[in-house]
Amino acid sequence: MPTLHATRRAWTDEAVRRIEADFNRSADTHLIPIELPHYRGIELYLKDESSHPTGSLKHRLARSLFLYALCNGWIGAETPVVEASSGSTAVSEAYFARMLGLRFIAVVPRETAAEKIAAIEFQGGECHFIDDPDTVYQEAQRLAREVQGHYMDQFKYAERATDWRGNNNIAESIFNQLELERHPVPRWIVCGAGTGGTSATLGRFVRYNHYSTEICVSDPAGSVFHRYFADRRTTTLDRCECCIEGIGRPRVEPSFIPDVVDRMIVVRDADSIAAARVLSERLGRRCGGSTGTNLWACAQLIAEMAGRGESGSVVSILCDQGDRYASTYFNDEWVASKHLELSPGMRTMTDFFAGRGFPAR
Ligand SMILES: *Cc1c(COP(=O)(O)O)cnc(C)c1O
Repeated sequence: MPTLHATRRAWTDEAVRRIEADFNRSADTHLIPIELPHYRGIELYLKDESSHPTGSLKHRLARSLFLYALCNGWIGAETPVVEASSGSTAVSEAYFARMLGLRFIAVVPRETAAEKIAAIEFQGGECHFIDDPDTVYQEAQRLAREVQGHYMDQFKYAERATDWRGNNNIAESIFNQLELERHPVPRWIVCGAGTGGTSATLGRFVRYNHYSTEICVSDPAGSVFHRYFADRRTTTLDRCECCIEGIGRPRVEPSFIPDVVDRMIVVRDADSIAAARVLSERLGRRCGGSTGTNLWACAQLIAEMAGRGESGSVVSILCDQGDRYASTYFNDEWVASKHLELSPGMRTMTDFFAGRGFPAR
């Protein structure tokens, strides 16, 4: 009879194999050029993370978190997996949990949109509802203990679960895909911060490979990250009024590593949504709000480059599809109910694409 230990090792081997086999069957995500005919010598690209099987950049994170937990011996055949997430992370983690035959429970605020709960349940996940959103971390930890499960803790582990030196992480993939472009080493890479994991991977990767690329994080006006970046003291806000899903937090998450971020650009929610709408029209398909936040920051950086007569490339991330936000960002009634005025931002963004500059804010 195999020992308990050997049985557990055999299960882990099979679990890792399944995740790697899934990766092996998958194609890389596209790097899409966005035409800028009015900005000579400047190229803009978006890394399309919406094309992952679970529809967002959280697919990479979920895969990394599962492999990290498996290889640390934290998950076995009978371990329920618990996460604090009402969004894309829960959807992607539910996908991998089902692949391994594990129970998955997302701890979500009671007011979470029905579409999101449906998306988590579609991937085989369960939702555990809480009344006070501020208690989501403690409640996830408590629930994990209660069911003898593992609290995945994306906010703590995002930064270290991803192999920052390479292994086809998002940074390595971007640089490989740029190889034959006019400016294969981008002047800027722009991303948002939710866990902070993406900016940590990008920032470490460019330093490790001694690229001159700078990392810019685009942050919603209501978020704490840019305040912390400026003073290194403000670590929490009473509330984050931000309504851009996936980014902007009231607490500086442990995976946010400010020292590998070169610059932050603050974007108002209305401008993020306006940019998402203008970009969606140009692409012929809808992208999510955080992609709009990214585009707004890219426009500012590109206008600055053009003003200085610089050439070069700028890369950012198309984080998820806009179809998920048909009832919010793309619904005029919802926008009005949030007192968001989109027309100034849409004009600014349209002017940018037409080569009429971009106002410095
Ligand atoms: C999580 C998320 C981000 C931010 O990525 P992090 O690596 O967690 O900082 C941006 N956009 C969307 C839609 C997300 O879900």
